[in-house]
Formats: sequence, C-alpha cells, structure tokens
Amino acid sequence: MTFDLLKECGNARRIGISGHVRPDGDCVGACLGLWQYLTKCLPEAGVQVFLEKPADIYREIKGFGEIVTDFPEEEPFDVFFLLDSVPDRMGEALSYYRAAGKKINIDHHVSNKGCGDVNYIRPEIGSTSELIYDMIAPDMLDQDMAKAIYTGIIHDTGVFQYENTTPATMEKGARLIGSGFDFSRLIRETFYQKTYVQAQIMGRTLMESIRFLDGACIVSAIDRKTMEFYHAEPKDLDGIVNQLRNIEGVECAIFMYQTNLLEYKVSLRSGDKVNVAEVASYFGGGGHVRAAGCTMSGTFHDCVNNISLHIEKQLKRWEAEHDKRDDSDF
Ligand code: 5GP
Ligand code: MN
Repeated sequence: MTFDLLKECGNARRIGISGHVRPDGDCVGACLGLWQYLTKCLPEAGVQVFLEKPADIYREIKGFGEIVTDFPEEEPFDVFFLLDSVPDRMGEALSYYRAAGKKINIDHHVSNKGCGDVNYIRPEIGSTSELIYDMIAPDMLDQDMAKAIYTGIIHDTGVFQYENTTPATMEKGARLIGSGFDFSRLIRETFYQKTYVQAQIMGRTLMESIRFLDGACIVSAIDRKTMEFYHAEPKDLDGIVNQLRNIEGVECAIFMYQTNLLEYKVSLRSGDKVNVAEVASYFGGGGHVRAAGCTMSGTFHDCVNNISLHIEKQLKRWEAEHDKRDDSDF
C-alpha cells in the first residue's frame, strides 16, 4: 500500500468525500470506491459523499443513491477527502473542505500542486481511481469496490487506450474484472452508449466544426439556445471533443459550450505536439498534457483567437525541436 488511508483517518467520527463539479467517471468511481472502503473498514465512522448529481449511467455503482447532492449545512468534518480536483473546482462542497479538521487531497492532475494538509498527487498515474486502488488493502477489495474503481480507470484511460495506461494499470484492471462483475456491459453502458439526443448533438457539432492551422486544429461550439432546444445538460456533451480529436490530421481539438452570455467552458484534447494542460493553465484552468479544460470570457471568436495563439506557438515550438532533431541525425 502506498498511502495508509486508515491511519490518516485516525479515529475520525465524521468523514466527508468530494470531487469536482460536473463529476466524470473517474471522479464518481474514486469517490464511491473510497466511500465503500471506509464504510467497510471504519463502521463506527459516518462517511458521506458530496457531489453535484452525477450522470445516471453511474447508477449501478454501489453508493450512488447515497450521494448527497444538495449540500446542506454541516458541522465541520473531522477528515475531508478531495479527490481528482483542486478546491477551485469543488463547487458547493468547498465550504466543507475549508472547515474540515484535516484536509486530504488525492489527485493525478499535473496542474494540482497539492491543496490539503496531507497531499497525494501523482500525475504519472492515469486516474484517481487507480490511486485509490493502490491504497486499498487487497483483502478488503470486493466486487462492488472493484466495479467503482474499474469505472474510474476506464473513463480516464479511454478504456485502456490513452498513453496514461501502463502495464500496471492493465494488471490492476485484470484483478478488478477477476472479481466477476459484467465489465463488458459496464464499458458499453457507461462509456460508449449515447442517448439519441446526445448522438444528435454530437452529429451537429461535428458537422459545424471548423478546421484551422492547416487542419492541425479543429474547433466546434454549442450555444445556450441550442442546448435549450435539445434540453441538454453539460453531461450530455461528454465524448464530443474526443470525436473531434479522432479526425485525421488533428493535433488539437477544441470544444466549447456556452455557459453565459459572454462565457464558454472549453475542453481541449491533443496528440503528440501540444501540451493542452499548459494552454488551459494560462487561462486559469488545468488538467493533463493531452486533456485539459478552462472557462473563458468573450464571444466564440474571441475565445478561439486567444486560444489558437497558444496552440500555434506550441505547434511551431514542436516543429522547431523536431527539425533540430532531424538535422542532428545526419
Ligand atoms: P474535460 O474537457 O473532459 O472537461 O476535462 C479534461 C481534463 O481537464 C479533466 O481532467 C478535467 O479535470 C480538467 N479540467 C477541465 N476543466 C478544467 C478547469 O476549468 N480547471 C481545471 N483545473 N481543470 C479542468
Ligand atoms: Mn481523473
């Protein structure tokens, strides 16, 4: 074990767990995996998960129905875990974290420098759920816990596809599916399956996408009016930016949805040449080298113009470094 969760909890009576706003598969899997483990090992303690209501696709993970989504006023927690996030992205759970006796921050985002009294930040690990797996005593791992953690791992590794997948990730995946849950259905229903409306929005977004920088960059956006027309929520937009990134020749994909009159939430994905964590951090966001996001002010064109300058600079830098390496081969 890499980090002694039970020792860190000491004899805490009240333990809280939260992640980031618009919780994704890794956030939900890590929070519920940890919740299950602490509930099992510390039956005397009260353990609660606080999150914005996650997408319904995660409903079969044990503990989903126990997630507190309305953030009532609470006495300070003895220990509060912040998973897969920095405090800035906690939303309403931030007040619990601030007031807690002990703050524990567990994350794998390269942009997180550690925001707790105790920090466990490992950017080289593909998902926060994988970090939680490493902290769980193997003899306590049961099928429900395995399902929660596996969900988190497949969502942040793109079903073991992205570069953040290591041989160790696969070994952990093997041990998790060994517990016997229907992993094939879980992958299909939480990762690939879309509702009809989600598919329509994706289709429309791909049709309206615009390529620039000689096709190395692609952008598409969805405005509030269109979101309202489809009765869509931000969680209905998952996967669109990855689809843009899959287009041949694309080094960097940008997907934006309007959150206010002059405000967009921006998602970035890249191939080998662009560090999107750096780009997003410049605009006050963050994330990983190949997947990051931020919130930007201005019109669609303002946002694209501002962000494309940074992407172009990085592409040029990559080309220059690449040329140098090619020269030195001779
Ligand atoms: P997505 O594009 O899927 O929303 O996010 C991609 C990655 O970037 C995720 O790991 C997410 O946590 C991170 N991310 C997205 N938006 C923000 C943001 O506004 N601030 C920070 N710090 N990270 C973000
Ligand atoms: Mn994550």
